Amino acid sequence: MMNQAVFLDKDGTLIEDVPYNVDPAQMRLVAGAGIGLQQLHQMGYQLIVISNQSGVARGYFSESALAEVEQRLQALLAPFDVSLDGFYYCPHHPDGTVMDYAIACECRKPAPGLLMQAARDHGIDLTASWFIGDILNDVEAGRNAGCQTVLLNNGNETEWLLSVDRVPHYMTADLAEAAAVIEKVGVRSQKSEYRKAEASYRSREAKLVGF
Ligand SMILES: [Mg+2]
Ligand SMILES: [Zn+2]
Repeated sequence: MMNQAVFLDKDGTLIEDVPYNVDPAQMRLVAGAGIGLQQLHQMGYQLIVISNQSGVARGYFSESALAEVEQRLQALLAPFDVSLDGFYYCPHHPDGTVMDYAIACECRKPAPGLLMQAARDHGIDLTASWFIGDILNDVEAGRNAGCQTVLLNNGNETEWLLSVDRVPHYMTADLAEAAAVIEKVGVRSQKSEYRKAEASYRSREAKLVGF
């Protein structure tokens, strides 16, 4: 059976948006992100970051800095018993100053290239998967890949350039609420039933230990 994933934008969705930041010390989880991801993980979804990082093409930082960003993000999520299954980014931008990266690519959102790549790498059924982001370019990338989409309505989208391809399937206040929506309407897999059973067993076990 193929896997299901929830693809996640990073900046403004998982962590507070600090433009072009790669300093791990300045990374903070957005409220609701940890618990939301924990719930999605327990439902059986793979959790995969899909991020535009044009700072590489613009010469603000190197690709190696993004490895530390990923590590820090994993560390921030660890207390929630969650780890990311994938971390994909687009380092390109057509107006970049670093020659190798200054291209019009297939992977910068709203293009769906990174989702397609992740789907190939992880055996993911895109039509049974979701994209959660904080701007309409995320929604468009998700729809382009055949996913259902959730827009976090947290004020980060300011232009609202709408078209058929950019209408979110759902809008929620934060990731915890997004997880609740996905639990309600998402396609269920056997794996998710297993994970839920496992989670309820663990919480019973925890209560016994506490007692
Ligand atoms: Mg964002
Ligand atoms: Zn790209």
